[in-house]
Amino acid sequence: MPSLVLTPSRMASSFQSMKCPFCGQTEDRVLDTRVQKDGSIRRRRECLGCKARYSTQETLIVDYPFVVKKDGRREPFSKEKILSGLEKACQKRPVSHAQIEAVAERIASWVINRGETEVPARLVGKRVIAELKALDDVAYVRFASVYRTFKDVQEFVDSLDDLELDFVDSNSPQLTLKPLNP
Ligand SMILES: [Zn+2]
Repeated sequence: MPSLVLTPSRMASSFQSMKCPFCGQTEDRVLDTRVQKDGSIRRRRECLGCKARYSTQETLIVDYPFVVKKDGRREPFSKEKILSGLEKACQKRPVSHAQIEAVAERIASWVINRGETEVPARLVGKRVIAELKALDDVAYVRFASVYRTFKDVQEFVDSLDDLELDFVDSNSPQLTLKPLNP
């Protein structure tokens, strides 16, 4: 989950009362607050009207900006797609899943912290490449050489987006690609 700084207003709203499922009263009292393993927050509440007790579970939902491609198409940023692209580049490399997760997390946080509603696809591509360079030389070269077979950066990033990129194993000197059907 991307790291987010909660603004005071967001924090205040997280303590908002819930409508009682039994009597409809909109005021309650929080008896207990617990952070779950998945990062969601569980609150035990007591209705101020009928004294019934119930729990709520709050999950942080992040609205990612749109990724804008060269042709103007927009689609919501997807951390899963970044993860998948990184995993392909790092196949059979001494890179742990945790490291790949951390990179995807950093990229997702970067996208959110830009504070814009849109991010150009080529910027995301550049960021992925910069992260890979720091992570693993071979993964970086793989990525970069596949990247060069495309006409331009954008085409490459589009292929990432479409998850059509298919890396052959690291023993092969030639990198081949599945046909792309954009
Ligand atoms: Zn009630």
